[in-house]
Formats: sequence, structure tokens, C-alpha cells
Amino acid sequence: MTIQTHILGYPRIGAKRELKFACEAYWKNETSQTEFLEKAYAVEASNWQAQIDAGTSLLTVGDFVLYDSILTHAVRLGVIPARFHEASKLNQIDQQFYLARGRAPNCSDVAALEMTKWFDTNYHYLVPELDSAQTFNADFSELYAQVDRAKTLKQPLKVVVPGLLTFLYLSRIVDQQQSSEVQDHHKEHDCECGHEHAELAADKATLQFVDALIPIYAKLFDELSARGVEYVQVDEPILVLDLAPEWQAAFERVYHLLQRRDALKLIITTYFETLGENLNLAVNLPVAGLHIDISREKAGEFFWKKVIDQLPSHKILSLGVINGRSVWASDLVKLDEIVQTAQKTLADRLWLSTGCSLLHVPVDLSSETVPSNIDGKLAFARQKLDELVALASGNIYVNEKLSKAAEHSFDLVAQSRPEAFEIRFKAQQEKFNLPLIPTTTIGSFPQTTEIRAARAAWNKGQLSDADYETAMKKEIAYAIEQQVALGLDVLVHGEAERTDMVEYFASLLDGFWLSKFGWVQSYGSRCVRPPIIVADISRPNAMTVKWIEYANSLSDKIVKGMLTGPVTILNWSFPPAHRTRREVCLQLAEAIRLEVSDLQTAGVEIIQIDEAAFREGLPLRKADRPEYWDWAVKSFKHCSSSAKLDTQIHTHMCYSDFKDCLAEITAMDADVITIETSRSGLQLLEVFHQQGYPNAIGPGVYDIHSPRTPSSENMRSVIDGALKTIPAERLWVNPDCGLKTRNWAETKAALTELVKMAKEIRKELEAA
Ligand code: GLN
Ligand code: ZN
Repeated sequence: MTIQTHILGYPRIGAKRELKFACEAYWKNETSQTEFLEKAYAVEASNWQAQIDAGTSLLTVGDFVLYDSILTHAVRLGVIPARFHEASKLNQIDQQFYLARGRAPNCSDVAALEMTKWFDTNYHYLVPELDSAQTFNADFSELYAQVDRAKTLKQPLKVVVPGLLTFLYLSRIVDQQQSSEVQDHHKEHDCECGHEHAELAADKATLQFVDALIPIYAKLFDELSARGVEYVQVDEPILVLDLAPEWQAAFERVYHLLQRRDALKLIITTYFETLGENLNLAVNLPVAGLHIDISREKAGEFFWKKVIDQLPSHKILSLGVINGRSVWASDLVKLDEIVQTAQKTLADRLWLSTGCSLLHVPVDLSSETVPSNIDGKLAFARQKLDELVALASGNIYVNEKLSKAAEHSFDLVAQSRPEAFEIRFKAQQEKFNLPLIPTTTIGSFPQTTEIRAARAAWNKGQLSDADYETAMKKEIAYAIEQQVALGLDVLVHGEAERTDMVEYFASLLDGFWLSKFGWVQSYGSRCVRPPIIVADISRPNAMTVKWIEYANSLSDKIVKGMLTGPVTILNWSFPPAHRTRREVCLQLAEAIRLEVSDLQTAGVEIIQIDEAAFREGLPLRKADRPEYWDWAVKSFKHCSSSAKLDTQIHTHMCYSDFKDCLAEITAMDADVITIETSRSGLQLLEVFHQQGYPNAIGPGVYDIHSPRTPSSENMRSVIDGALKTIPAERLWVNPDCGLKTRNWAETKAALTELVKMAKEIRKELEAA
């Protein structure tokens, strides 16, 4: 007997990033909306075709959206914040883009919606803004049109809808006054650090909208039923979180009120974790079925068995057996044992699926040239469809290559610097003799068209290694010259030679594989190509020394060495199949430690180890967090353990929400930490003020995401605010992130103001 199969979602960017290019052309007004939609629907059609070709039992509809699912749902519910009032003249296609980007044809520019991390993934969703007096004006006609397109394929359909409670949990209430604050920092989502809310919104106040939404959902389900849809996949992933009692109670009430008496069956889907404490609640909701993700269970946990034990005997259980977050092939033999056991109890109530949407993995492996050491071991979205169907039809095969996956592993004892901060800092100050509140930048300078053209030519073999090196050195020399002219105190080489702060190191370390087309959506049209960790990590050669050494030779000022930290490299890569994250992180830390050592030998006196994604791998449930912090902090400290007493270690983080983790940030014990403060206002410093921070800090004084020249007063207010908490001796002045997305004119204008402001304050401090 073949078991029913379905997926929770498929990547929507297209195998060749067709949707990205179509969106960008449309935004630039190079194509009409009709032409744009034609291209988008071609991707939608090929996603459906992939499911039909593979032979899944149900066709998944509604997961394909143009920018983000939560955004699309908000627009369909009529949740359009007041500042977008001009959206009334747009159709829903343009409304979505207006909310996401803050601009639309014939509308005034306003601040885009905030975006934040989608649970613990590297995908970002747009946070819906509800007004306290929000009314809903639903229009799901675009979804119905999508269902009609799917119906022409004559397959049984399952439509995906964001669950009512997950939608409210991820939204926030923004009143008029806050809305004008948002407006103040108009933000383009154009770099990797565009997410200032590390936590999901989870504002209980949004529960007040439950009653308004229930009839809307009921009507939506009625309409889908009338269109012959058999199943609705109601995404309620918040069921895997530590939920407050109010949310738990709301689940019972909402699904009781949304109970169906007709043929339409609701399947509640949960993913990214087990149900934990919400097990009892979830299995008993009055719906037709439940989906769980078994790929995140801890070894030996067998949580899925508990779910089967407790599931009422009429319900469908969709078992998410294929890991939707991993790029590795499934061990079908092992999964088959699970399937067999589950089937004994569930019989035809068992469905098989991917743990979560396949949105989080690259589209198709078939266009890659895979090196022999990992050949046969990988599976991207398209390959996962085949695995799923093979498993359901009992057509399993032994993958010999998987069994011998784990290479030797080395266990490393994490080291840390022996001297306390006060002693180190004193030695460093004596050696560097920097002025009070020294000025610096975060590392990158504009990635100009010339830089990108040179790299593209080099990658294509049109530019020799030597010529590429000369081209990059020219950029470094230019960056140093500009910084000297601007009067900055501590210089950087500008990172011209780096495409991306993680990919650069992954390409030079052993143990990584960089795919050619392994793109994954990060948000909207932005895609990332995470490196894949395939073996033990080691550093065959120094990675950054020649560039920094060259930069250092060009002036008398100190040049900061620039590295990416192990936690960030790990969190922005695909982890290996058979290693714990802790183990891999320490291996990465050892490689970075060796680099710190080589930089130091080459005469580099200040070394920054960026940890932009330090908290991005934080587990969803509180109980799992201490373990993460433990190895993350140890790994960072291990990198800096080769630094001498008077070598100064900096770190940089692109966010400011340290409320719940200042202790861990402090435990990293970097001599200087530079952070984002310009957008979060001075809230952040409040946390530092209340909890105290012993080491030195560079609060970002202006938002590098904005092309506007920052005003001196705004920058000053950050430093004045910081001085209330942090003594001038331990304060630095810098922008809030790297400048690679800006152009040189904007950069020079902003830094001129920054240096001027720092000099003024310095004079006042010295006079006092
Ligand atoms: N050093 C990096 C840069 O300046 C840091 C980037 C980041 O934090 N996202 O670009
Ligand atoms: Zn940053």
C-alpha cells in the first residue's frame, strides 16, 4: 500500500532564481505587471510539475507567494498600516511590494515593514503591523485564482494558509506615535543584518483580534471547500514554542469555533521542533489531522511515538520524516523503520511529508558538479521529493555512501586568554596611545562596480591571480588613503577581496563545499548561497594576512585585522550530517585562532572577529539555550586565546537586543564590542546601563542602511547617552555596520560628520 505524501512547501525563487530576477526587473519598471506575473506563474507551475513528476499524492497550493507568506496573508486580510494609505490605489500584487519595500509606483516613499527571523531559520518574514483599532477587510481572490490555476492540473489539492494564531503571534501592534518613529529610520532591506527584532513579536495584546478573524477564516475555508479543495494545511508553527497560557487557551477556542462539518479537512502543521509541552493541546484540537516534524528530535527522544500514543483514533498524522532544513540525503533505511512502526498503529491515517517547507534548502542538485567525497550524499528540494515518494512506496534503497559519513573527529579543549580585561586594556592603551573616544569603522568599504567586475572576471578566468591581486590592492590603497584623509583613528583595509563575510572564509578553509546554484531565499528577492560543511574543518593557509599586511604598510596608523567568527560562519552555513554544532564550531574556532596568531606575527595589533550571527542559532525553547550559549561563548573565546596581552580583540554584532543575553555577550570578553544602536535608539544602552558592561564599547552612531548623511546631533546623542553609562576611556565611535552597500560619496560625507562630532566631544571631555 502506498502511503499518502505531500510537502509543506517548495522553494519559490525558482531553480535559476527566476522569481528574484523577475521581481527586480519589475521593481525597476523594466517589465509590466502582466509580464512579471507570467514569469512568476511559470515558477509556480514548475513547482507543481516537480511534485507531479515525483508522484506526491497531494498538490500543495498557496505556498507560492511573491515576497513572503506572512506579508501576503496580511495584505489579503487588509492589514495595511496607515502610513501606506496610498496603497488603496494599488492591487494586491503592488500592495505587497509597497509594504515590503516602502516604495511603489506613484506612491510616496514610507518606511517599509520591519522584518525578522522566521523562527530559528535564516529566512526573514515581514512583521505585520496591526493598529489598536484594526479592522479587517479580507480579500482572498488572489488565492482563489491560484487554486483555479492548480485545478487545471487535475490533482487532489491541499491549500496552505498561515494559522490564525501564528499570524497574530508574529504580528505586532503599532500605534500612530510609534509608527512615526518607524518612519524616521526609513530602512531598505539590503544587507545581511536587516533584522533588529531577534525575538518573534509574541505580543499577547494581538489576541484581541481573534474574534474579528474567526469569521474571516471560516469564510475562507467555506470558499475553498466550495472550490473542491479537500485539505487545508493550517500552519501553526508557534505550537513548538514555550507558549504562555493565554495562547494555549486561544488555540482551544479558535479551533473549536473553526470546526468543520463539511468535507473540508483541516491539518494543523507544526515544525522546527517537537510539540514539547503543547503535545496534549495539539493532538486534541478539533481538526482532521496534525503534522509534526521529526527531524529536530534529539537522539533517542522518540517524541513522535508519544504523539501517536496520544492522537485520537480518527485523526490523520502527517509525519515530517524528510528533514526540510538539511542538504544531506536521508537515510531511507532508518526512516523506513519509523514508517513501519507508525503504520502499525495508524494504518491509512499515516501521511508522510517533509518536516517543514523545503523553502530552506536549495532547489535542485542536478545542475551541480558535486565533488567525489560527497557525491551521492546530498539532496536538495527536488531530490527530497523523490526520497519522500520512495519511502511511501516502500521503494527504499541502501545508500552505502551514507553509512561511512563520519570522518575522524577531533575534540578540542577550548582555551581562553589568561589575563583579565583590565590588565589587557591597560597594556593596550599604553601601546596604542589612541585619543579619547577613538574613531573607526566596522570593516567593509563600498563594494564598487569595479570591484565586482574584477572579481567576476577573475572567477571566469579572464583575469589572472596576479592581476586580481593588483586590482584589489589598488582598492585597499584607496580605502586607506581616504581614511587617512578623513582623520579616522583606527583604519580597516575595506574588505574589497570579500564577496561575503562567510563565503570568503569558507572558500579558503578545508572542509567546505561551495555549490554553484545552491541559492536559498533569505527575504524577498534576496537569496544567499550558504556554504556546506562536508568534513573536518582545517586551515591550510593564512587567509587574510597578505591583505592586512599590505594595508598596514600604507600608513602609520593602526589597521584592524578583520575576521569572521566561528559562530557566524556556522550559523550561515549548512552543518554537516553527523557532527554536533558544538564540535564543528570549535573546529572553526581553532582555524580562526590560528589566523589571529598569524596576523599578530605579521604585526597586526588590533583584530576584529565579527559575530554578526552570534545569536542566530539560538534554540527556540528556553530550556535548550544554556547549552548553545556555552559552546558559542567558548568558541569565540578560543579564537582570541592566541592574542597576546597587548593585542586588542574587537567583535561586532549588527543588532542591539541584548536584554536577555548581555551576560553571554559579556562572557565573550572581547576587549571592544561594536554594536548597532542608531536604529534602536538608546534603548540598548539602557540595558548596558542597568546590567553593567565591564569592557569597551563602540555604539553605532549612525544607520549605514540609509543613504542620507547622518546629522551631527543624532550621532552626538548616541555618544552623550553612552557616556552616562560607559567611561570615555572605554568608548569608541563608529557607524553601526560595514559600509559595503553604500557608495563612496555617501560614505565620505557621513564619516566626515562622524569624525567632526567625535573631535568636538573629545575637546569637551579634555577640557572638563
Ligand atoms: N566586517 C563586516 C563588514 O564591515 C561586518 C558585516 C556585518 O556585520 N554584517 O561588512
Ligand atoms: Zn554589522
